[in-house]
Amino acid sequence: MKKTIALLPGDGIGKEVVDVTVEILKAVAEHFNHQFQFNYGLIGGTAIDQKGNPLPQETIEICKQSDAIILGAVGGPKWDQNPVELRPERGLLALRKELDLFANLRPITTFESLLDSSPLKREYVNGVDFVIVRELTGGLYFGKPSERVVKDGEDAVVDTLFYKRKEIERILVTAFEIAGKRRKHVTSVDKANVLESSRVWREVAEEVAARYPEVTLEHMLVDNAAMQLIRSPRQFDVIVTENMFGDILSDEASMITGSLGMLSSASLSSTGLHLYEPIHGSAPDIAGKNQANPIATILSAAMMLRQSFGMEEEAKAIEKAVDNVLNSGARTADLANDEKAISTTQMAEEIKNAIS
Ligand code: ATP
Ligand code: MG
Repeated sequence: MKKTIALLPGDGIGKEVVDVTVEILKAVAEHFNHQFQFNYGLIGGTAIDQKGNPLPQETIEICKQSDAIILGAVGGPKWDQNPVELRPERGLLALRKELDLFANLRPITTFESLLDSSPLKREYVNGVDFVIVRELTGGLYFGKPSERVVKDGEDAVVDTLFYKRKEIERILVTAFEIAGKRRKHVTSVDKANVLESSRVWREVAEEVAARYPEVTLEHMLVDNAAMQLIRSPRQFDVIVTENMFGDILSDEASMITGSLGMLSSASLSSTGLHLYEPIHGSAPDIAGKNQANPIATILSAAMMLRQSFGMEEEAKAIEKAVDNVLNSGARTADLANDEKAISTTQMAEEIKNAIS
């Protein structure tokens, strides 16, 4: 198969982890007889430095001409004092809006060989395997008005939680579709005892559930969900929730696995052009040191092969290679914290050689 992949390395370790992931994808292409073409685009701080804009128009064009997008990370102390419109993170938010990347999927799975890296007890996290489906383009983060106001002569402030019913429906449909291919259980997380938006969310969840009789639906209040993730994470198959709840719960859930450097994500678009990225940031503290764990990005590439290109066997080959290399004891510094740690490029090289 012939596929075009947009690469947006971004800032900090973004470039390092994307570079080595490309090498793995080249190995996959060779092994399975595919042709991947890579087109690089600027985003974030690097784009501000070179083009004066965190998301240059040409980057959007490069993405739109591709079959999928791989992003590294954006941000860093160099740009922290910039005015809002010249912050690296703006580039990513603008890209989500521009490409309508409305569903963020974050798989949470544990690796047998890393069970002791989790702050939770081994017996609680062993076998954890669920996906968080977070709504990404609506809710409190985008609702208007969002501003300081004066109310009854006093300084006040307002943010707005806004959703169109259709936006709620499409994220629930995404979750049910995913659950249908997994263990067929959806946990819809809301705050329906307080919020009107959550009551509508529940109504829509029930409507969508009726179309998927083979999938069970459970409603859970967000405070309870936060607790259950720690108490018994194995109970979950697919968690679906609105933007802010998903933001918080997905960071909480990421710790079940241990290292930020292991977790991949996909952001799905209504247009079919999806974006894949590690969940970690640009890690300025270790940038340029060839220390970063590249596995999150490598596993994001595997998600891309499966989700965007339908290449199940190829995706599995990468996942198996990662598993084998971890089982053999290879560790980057985030997982090893001793002198035996190997570099970003060594880790990627081992994974590449393990692809079969
Ligand atoms: P963002 O706001 O962009 O999400 P952040 O403030 O959450 O960024 P990260 O850049 O994700 O921060 O880094 C958090 C910590 O995790 C840092 O100490 C960083 O070095 C470490 N870290 C992040 N990613 C990796 C990785 N791939 N390998 C090793 N360590 C990492
Ligand atoms: Mg973060």
